[in-house]
Amino acid sequence: MDFYNRLSADLEQLREAGCYRTLRALPAELVNLSGNDYLGLLNDTAFREAFYETLSGETRNLSAASSRLLTGNVPVAIELEETIAAAYGAEAALVFGSGYHANTGILPALVGPKSLVLSDKLNHASMIDGIRASGATFYRFRHNDLAHARTFLERYAQAYDEVFVMTESVFSMDGDCTDLDALVKLKADFPNVILYLDEAHGVGVFGETGLGLAHAKGVHQSIDILIGTFGKALCSTGAFAVCSKVIRDTLINKMRPFIFTTALPPINLAWSLYVFNALPKMQARRAHLHSMGERLAATIRARGVDCVSESQIVPYVIGSNEDAIAEAERFQKAGFYVLPIRPPTVPRGTARLRFSLSADLSEETFNRLLDVFHII
Ligand code: PMP
Repeated sequence: MDFYNRLSADLEQLREAGCYRTLRALPAELVNLSGNDYLGLLNDTAFREAFYETLSGETRNLSAASSRLLTGNVPVAIELEETIAAAYGAEAALVFGSGYHANTGILPALVGPKSLVLSDKLNHASMIDGIRASGATFYRFRHNDLAHARTFLERYAQAYDEVFVMTESVFSMDGDCTDLDALVKLKADFPNVILYLDEAHGVGVFGETGLGLAHAKGVHQSIDILIGTFGKALCSTGAFAVCSKVIRDTLINKMRPFIFTTALPPINLAWSLYVFNALPKMQARRAHLHSMGERLAATIRARGVDCVSESQIVPYVIGSNEDAIAEAERFQKAGFYVLPIRPPTVPRGTARLRFSLSADLSEETFNRLLDVFHII
């Protein structure tokens, strides 16, 4: 079989398995329940226009036209990192092109010859890619089961120089949350544990000041590497790590997706900074978001379907790929853009709809969404 025939045959197999992906445009008339604009900033034109008013000189630039290490280290990049580090009461922060860059690049830069990695079974693909690229020995613990992670530590911690324990604060598929008190307890009990926490879906959404779940619980100082992304609640693009100065310096020297890529555009960094500084004022948006999350999960549970969500991400597990596709179409006909999530993104046999809520949903629109469940 020649190359192009093989590709076509592979795609055909995906189609037959109901796993074929296509790029779609969001139909203008549908309410978007599949994005990550959790705080509802995307269409807040007044907020955006107020930001444009602040721009002058360098921050109007649409490209850095250089990597950070050459001429891309613009003042707004430094101001953003210093602002983030100060907000978390940390030694340092470092900004990256995306969460994907961060998660694929950080671990390979930090592992040594005797590092072990323990990773939650449902960690995001970007973390898995980073673990693989690091070449370190790794074990996956059962999803959200830190007791299981502990059994690995009891068995192996002594044999390694350090053990990276990697997890997410708010899981991207099910919206369930890690028990962060139990997580930091691992570090208290095993001194060579390095905690790596991805707060992609927590930053902006949790906490009085919107700094995420670890900050809300007051355990952020125990996290060695805390990842936040700008492309979700903060409605921008890029990502950051909150860490010690020695970790930051190591990443600047060794992290390939930091070194060998163009720095983010100054205008984008300025927008991320603008939104980050505004997070403490967005408490009403967060309260509305969480209230909707709780009500949606309760509606799903009332249908006898288990729903582990504790956040703005609410799964509605259906089972087969075909049924999930049909249900998604039903919600779309009712005016809501909800997409089926299928294997390999989620485990086989657990295809689902994933509702990703946004604070700009009105009560009226949200109640219409709940009504769709009631007419099934
Ligand atoms: N981590 C998690 C948990 C995510 O869900 C995502 C994006 N879906 C990323 C990292 C990647 O972030 P980015 O989109 O900024 O590349």
